[in-house]
Amino acid sequence: MLTEKNAIAGYKAQVEQYGTPISSDEFRELRDYANRHGIKLSGFKDFVGDISAIKTVIDDICVISNDFPEILNERQGIWLELDYNLGTDFATTESGHIIHLNAVFYSNMEMLTREYSKCESDGRFVKGTDWRAIVRHEVGHVVANVYNIDPMDLAKELKETKRTAEILDILTDELSVYSTEYNDGREIISECFSGYYSNVGNTFADMYVKACIDRSKKAGDPNEIME
Ligand SMILES: [Zn+2]
Repeated sequence: MLTEKNAIAGYKAQVEQYGTPISSDEFRELRDYANRHGIKLSGFKDFVGDISAIKTVIDDICVISNDFPEILNERQGIWLELDYNLGTDFATTESGHIIHLNAVFYSNMEMLTREYSKCESDGRFVKGTDWRAIVRHEVGHVVANVYNIDPMDLAKELKETKRTAEILDILTDELSVYSTEYNDGREIISECFSGYYSNVGNTFADMYVKACIDRSKKAGDPNEIME
């Protein structure tokens, strides 16, 4: 039996060798769609798959940017990069604002949907979420970076505790196993974004993202009195 890793590596080779990349018309359509929404693309000329999935990703980023407009500012903005070398990761975020999408998964929505839902049903990801939560999760990392939010500090504040171990314990149950992947809490904000923007009614995620929105407004309010 193939391990997951081997299955994905095999599929990667198949996509690279035999997959038909999108036409130049489709590429232009996708690029223009991204540009209109303030998002830059990299590596999508060779995309083997359905551009409507990537348009959905772009739409989902835009919904979050309504609450956190700085993530799509002129100076930095968000890049979406199609990456064939992410192994079994669905996506990763690099240098704060470059979101890498795993080309192997995004070229096959059936596979992406199935593999994501396996992780959701075993509690690794927030209950009730689907593949669209992947990019919502990654945008959480971008927001933490752009708005300078320390994910663990905010979780401690909301749960009124100073104990890291206690937070990790609570969030394993109340949010997701993956939210506790790193002891510094970097995945907490992302898993909260995944839950909140997927509208799955996760109490902690909802409280957490609302606190982030509050903070971002305060940070941007020039009339706030600093003491
Ligand atoms: Zn993450």
